This record gives sequence, structure tokens and C-alpha cells, in this order.
Amino acid sequence: MNRELLTVVVAARDEAEALPLLHRRVAGVLDGLVADGVDGRVLYIDDGSRDGTWEVMRGLASGDRRVALLRLSRNFGKEAALTAGLDHVEAGAAIILDADGQDPPELIPQFVAKWREGYDDVHGMREQRDGEGWLKRATAHAFYRVMQRLSKTPIPTDTGDFRLLSPRALAALRQLRERHRFMKGLFGWIGYNRVAIPYRREARLAGSSKFSLWKLWNFALEGITSFSTAPLRLATYVGLGAALVAFVYAVWIVSKALFFGDRVAGWPTMMTVILFLGGVQLVALGMIGEYLGRLYEESKQRPLYLVDDWRPAPTGVSSLPS
Ligand code: UDP
Ligand code: MG
Repeated sequence: MNRELLTVVVAARDEAEALPLLHRRVAGVLDGLVADGVDGRVLYIDDGSRDGTWEVMRGLASGDRRVALLRLSRNFGKEAALTAGLDHVEAGAAIILDADGQDPPELIPQFVAKWREGYDDVHGMREQRDGEGWLKRATAHAFYRVMQRLSKTPIPTDTGDFRLLSPRALAALRQLRERHRFMKGLFGWIGYNRVAIPYRREARLAGSSKFSLWKLWNFALEGITSFSTAPLRLATYVGLGAALVAFVYAVWIVSKALFFGDRVAGWPTMMTVILFLGGVQLVALGMIGEYLGRLYEESKQRPLYLVDDWRPAPTGVSSLPS
């Protein structure tokens, strides 16, 4: 049988407690896959942790020859950390997993089976979310629906970063070097054969979520501005609508003055109109600003991340796991 290579890519920030628990599960699953002709590797990325996550990772690497480690020079955020990880996958397919055990590694064989059927992008679809409050669930639900409406790129609903990418999907993703990385959108953009695997999103093994509601809101803005210019168009239509109403109103005011004379009244209406138009203009300016700011960031062409330490797995690419 053809042997295939699969790297489990895990970005972690302050996950010292969860990582050993996760690694035990991942290692068990990879052991099981060897008989299926799949050589597993694990790549842990330390995204600027402050709680000894790096030491924990080094411990895991010294106990398991399949483990590669990557440490970024500071916290770059999950999306950049994942990009760094995927850039360092030398060969074969990659599967992305959260470090906190919310994406169950036990499903990896199912993902691999789909990959072997010829799918390039096998993504987990959250059917149920355990241990997350109603507000997070409701906002996440709304976000995916709004995104779907606004964006021309297909972005599957309720899909996180839990996914397997075939070598060619991985190569495609590597070509997308934009700084504002809305990964869900990027995955959608590359296309190829895609299939969803429904799963139950479990509660965290340990520690707490790194994404507050405010961060999630910014994340949503990121998604919308990276994959849609609908807000700019909306500003155009609001402007057109306001101009139309203003025109009708002007005709009315002028004819009233012509027929009945003008006794300089209407201060309340004037204030209302001025304030309303001022507000609309500021909102539209803000929208333009969002896009302009991103253009500015993009134009600087800085690298997406900096590597502090890179330790490839001792087993390398071609040999079998010990
Ligand atoms: N993460 C990261 N860098 C960050 C924030 C988070 O690498 O700046 C990792 C984190 O360690 C975890 C994953 O991203 O493996 C998902 O984070 P978290 O569980 O906090 O998010 P949630 O599951 O609540 O959406
Ligand atoms: Mg989590």
C-alpha cells in the first residue's frame, strides 16, 4: 500500500495544561493510523505563550520522535500561527486541530478516509457546541449567516479551523499571503473538492478561551472586510437614498416658500436633517476607513510572522515513526 504522510498542526497560546492531555490522544490516534498506511507527524506552534507552554512542548518532543516544534517570536494570533505551521509542513497532508481538545483528535481517521476518497478539503462542521454560552453560540450562528450572504466566496456555515488539507490544497493556501487572514474565507477561496464531517464540539480540556466577545466582534469585521465589499456598496445606496429624499424635500420646501412665502421657521427640521446626514456621512467614512486601513496594512508587505525556534521532527519526512 502507498504510504501517506499526515501532519497534525496545532497552534497553542498558553495551553500548558491542555497540551499533554491532547498529545496523549493525538499520539494514540496516529499510532492507530500506521496500520492504515499513514505516517503521522505532529507540529506544535507556540504562539507567544507566557505560561510555560514551550517547556511543555519540548517535553512532548523529547518523548515522541514524531513531534516538530515551532516557536514564534511573539504572539501573532491564531491565524498567523496556523499559517506559520502550515508553511512548515514539508510534505503530505495537514490537519489543523485546536490545542484545547475542542476538536476531538479521535475523528482524524474519518478525515483521512475522506482524503483517501479524493477530497482536498475535509472540514469539521460543528453540530453542537458544549461548554459555550448562549451569547457566543447565537452570535456565531448569526455571523456565519451574514457572511454567507455578503461574500461571494463560499464559506461553509459552522465550520472552524478543524480541517484536513490535501497536499495540493496546502500548496494553494500557501500562495495566499495577505496579512489580514480570515482563514475560513481563505479555505473557501481555494476551492477543490470539499466535504464536511459533522461533529460535536466539546468543552475545553483546561484553561479558558482566548477569544473574548470583543475579539470575536473584531474577528467578524475582519471576515466581512476581507471577503466582501458589501458595506461600501451599502454606503453608496444609503447615500443615494438620502439624496433622493433630500431632493423631494427640497422641491416641497421651495414650492412652499414660493406659494406661501418664507417666514424662517423650521429649525427643528433643519437640525434633524443636518444631524442625520452628518451621522450617515460619518458611518460611510468609517466604512471606507476600515478598508483603507487594511489596504495600508497590506501595502507594508511585512512578513506574516517571525520564527524564534524551529525544531523539525527527528523522524524527518521519509522514514517511519519509531
Ligand atoms: N490560539 C493561538 N493564538 C492566539 C489565540 C489562540 O494560537 O493568539 C490558539 C489556542 O491556543 C487554541 C486555538 O487557538 O488552540 C483556539 O483558541 P480558543 O480555544 O481560545 O478559542 P475558542 O475555541 O474559544 O474559539
Ligand atoms: Mg477553544
